[in-house]
Order: sequence, then C-alpha cells, then structure tokens
Amino acid sequence: MDPEPARATPRDPLDDLLPVGVLRFNAARRVSGANPRAHALLDVAPGRLLGRSVMETFLDLRVERFLDDGGGTMEARVGAGESRTVIVRAAPTDDGELVVTLEDVSELRRLRQIRTEFIDNLSHELRTPISTVSLLAETATREAAAEGVPERLRDRIAKIEVETGHLAQMVAEILDLARIEGGSPIVPEDDVDLCRLAELSADRLRLFAERGGVRIAVDADPTAPVIRADEQRLGQVLVNLVHNAVKFSPDGGDVVIRVSPDGDGVRVEVVDHGIGISRVDRPRIFERFYKADRARVRGGGTGLGLAISRHIVAAHGGTIGVESEEGRGSTFWFLLPARLPVGVEQDRPAEDAPAAT
Ligand code: ADP
Repeated sequence: MDPEPARATPRDPLDDLLPVGVLRFNAARRVSGANPRAHALLDVAPGRLLGRSVMETFLDLRVERFLDDGGGTMEARVGAGESRTVIVRAAPTDDGELVVTLEDVSELRRLRQIRTEFIDNLSHELRTPISTVSLLAETATREAAAEGVPERLRDRIAKIEVETGHLAQMVAEILDLARIEGGSPIVPEDDVDLCRLAELSADRLRLFAERGGVRIAVDADPTAPVIRADEQRLGQVLVNLVHNAVKFSPDGGDVVIRVSPDGDGVRVEVVDHGIGISRVDRPRIFERFYKADRARVRGGGTGLGLAISRHIVAAHGGTIGVESEEGRGSTFWFLLPARLPVGVEQDRPAEDAPAAT
C-alpha cells in the first residue's frame, strides 16, 4: 500500500528537466524526496514514492543490500515487469541521508545486445569456411614439401597457412569477446589459488618463451588468499598477459609473474623488460583491436586479448592496469577482491577505462 503523498512543495523546473531519476532516503531509509523522472522510471504515480522503504521502492533484494552497504554503482532492472535497465548510483550525505540517482540505459543495453548478436552470428558464419581453408592450407603445405616444388610456391603456401591461423584466432577471440560482453558464463564459483594458477600459466607458455630465448619466473607469496572466482577465465587473463610480456620482450629477456596479498584480495603483476608502451598508446591498449605498433610484434596478434582480460577482471569486481616506460618494459597488474562485491554485474562488466600510468 502506498503511503499518502506528502504536502506539495514548491515546484522546481529543474526536476522536470533532469534526465536522471533522483531519490533521497532519510536516515531511516525512507524516501524523503524523489523527482518526476524517478517516479516515471519506477512506474509509480507522481508523489507516491515518498515514505517508501528501499524494498518498497525497488522491489529488489540486491538493490536493498547494495544501498545498505552505503553506495557505489550497480545495474538493476526496474519498472513494471522490470522493463527498464538503470544504473543506480548512491552516495551518503553528511547528515546520514542517502542520495540515489537512476540513469536509464535500456536503449544502450538493447543496442549492445544487437551488436553482440551480430558479431556472434558473423563469427559463427566465418568459422566454417576458415576451418576449411585452414585444412586445405595444411594439406597444401605437406604436399609442397615434396621435391620439385618451386621455393616461391612453397613460401606462398606457408604464408597462407600462417595468415589463416591468425584469421582463425581472430574469429575465435571476437566470438569470445562477444560472448563475454553479451552476458557469457563467467562463473565465480571456484576456489582459486592464484599462486598455483601463475605456475600453470608459466608452464603453458614456457615452450613459446624458450623459442624466443625468454625466461619466465614466478614469484608467488603463499600468504595470498584463495579467492572465489572463475578459474578458467582468470587463467585466460594470466596467459594473455604473460603471452604479451614474452611477445614484447627482447631475445634473452625475462618475465616475472608476481602474486601477493592485497587487503583481503590478491594482486597479480606480470613484469617484462621489453619494448614498453608509449604515453599515447597506454590509455588505449585495452580497447578492442588496438595495437600500439604493428611492425615490431613477435608472432602477430589480434588486439583483443587485453579487451577480453579487462572484461574478465571487471566481471570479478577487480581492476586491471598497466605501468610502463617506453624502451624499458611494462608491468601489467590486476587486483581481485576476495569475494564478488554486491552490485557487480557479472555479466555486464563496467565500461570504465582501466588504470594506466
Ligand atoms: P595483441 O597482443 O593480440 O595485439 P592485446 O589486446 O593483448 O592484443 O594487446 C594490445 C596491444 O597492447 C598490443 O598490440 C601491444 O601494442 C600492446 N601491449 C600489450 N602488452 C604489451 C607488453 N607487455 N609490452 C608492450 N606492449 C604491449
């Protein structure tokens, strides 16, 4: 049952103009003020929000827990039939009230879904012909090894095989990114020991590193806590970072994976002494397809690995970033909380840019 609307207060034209919903909860966590947009987003008749509790306002236990925790940002479904997606932002005031804003991102989410589905369909369509070409290139390479095949032809066939491999990898990564962005299965239900995961990732890449004369060492502090996470996905982040560190190291270089406790979470660093990243490129390398320097890469790349890693870390409520100096090397790091905090949308990672210094 709705409480009686409060006495009419002088109308502020700003209230009608504001494109975001604004609510105030008093110290007892009852609505003490709400603009027309908040009423519209929550599908409540004008003035009817006043006096409601958080639960009566949002009808969502997650939002209640999130506001109990005192603020931050989360995504929620609101309105009749949960028809709208809003970003809920909350901050406490000095006198114990809580100010909450609601930003309608339904249209943005709908467009993102369309984009994801388009990429998903396209990559599926591309996969079949690419694997056929891959197989043919493989066969042709074997046949070209026979005597009497001109060197030039052999070279061309080898190039076709390499490029098809890149194409296949790119399509696989695009598909993976589309799945993560479209609400993929990142399931933080494993007890993950990052020290162990660091060793496993190093083992997986040792052969690749040795080919370029690069050594991989692990420096893991065993007091780093075991965390609740998706082990396979975090393994993917580590392999991406270490693969890059090796790729951008000089022959004879070394790469260190460091794992240490950080508050009640874990900090992981992947350190290399390779080519480094310029100040201009640093803020952009986590974007899809962004590559700083196409010419100097050992073994190519798609420019998607860091975008995927960023999504995975964000889906765990963590942060990823890089410190780097051109010509001296880079340290990629990520921080993971012990548990997924309330309000983190596992399937819809934040769009915030990662830290780069
Ligand atoms: P890829 O490695 O496939 O190109 P990523 O998304 O993993 O794609 O990386 C994007 C770009 O960031 C790389 O192309 C490179 O320019 C830069 N980069 C990533 N890691 C490093 C590193 N350890 N040292 C120098 N540059 C790096």
